[in-house]
Amino acid sequence: MNVYALWNGCLDWLFPCTCAACAINNVRPEQPICYQCLSELQATQYQPSKHDELEKMFWGRIQLEYVKAEYPLKKGTILQQTLHQFKYHHRPGIGIYLGMLAGKKLKRIHEQHPVDALIPLPLHSHKQRKRGYNQAERICAGLSISSGIPVWNDILYRNHATETQTRKDREERWNNMLGKFSLKRTDRATNKHLLLVDDVITTGATLEAAGHTLLQIPEVRLSFFALAHTESTGS
Ligand SMILES: [Zn+2]
Repeated sequence: MNVYALWNGCLDWLFPCTCAACAINNVRPEQPICYQCLSELQATQYQPSKHDELEKMFWGRIQLEYVKAEYPLKKGTILQQTLHQFKYHHRPGIGIYLGMLAGKKLKRIHEQHPVDALIPLPLHSHKQRKRGYNQAERICAGLSISSGIPVWNDILYRNHATETQTRKDREERWNNMLGKFSLKRTDRATNKHLLLVDDVITTGATLEAAGHTLLQIPEVRLSFFALAHTESTGS
């Protein structure tokens, strides 16, 4: 055992990390969900027919190649607890891990609908400083590890902080989102298929606004991916 492994072993013993879903079983940092919770989570994965419903949600709103979400998001589930830990309890490894799991499936989709790059939905810099990371970037990192698709995080930028989205209807949200994104260094994205990635799709208004910004790049094709999809408001 080398010194690094020994040190990590000591850290695990001193500060055991509990499962992000059940908060009972101890886990290793690189696998933040225990096997029991993981098998329960994997059993809830979306079936292909559900993706048709998800795609219909964006019909007439934006031109997309496809929309994929890995899991439905419901209250009181293992997934809700896990995503809460990921976003609000400084556990960025959860996003990388869930991204790696989803990336295996994405790799198979990629064989039929090749994607040139993963684009994380940018977080406003104030929020990123407070959280310590952009959750979409961590998911992209995991997706990239298991799919081999590169991440481009220097193309799409967020201009201003947006107000909280919780109590706005879709039209209000859309107006609020207009002009919130901008592009830089887009030459390499011309005529490419980009996969815009976020953690959760609720109304899809933020992805839609960012997507319209990306579609200003000449000949670009666009798809959306999220770890989870919820039909209720208040993501
Ligand atoms: Zn667990």
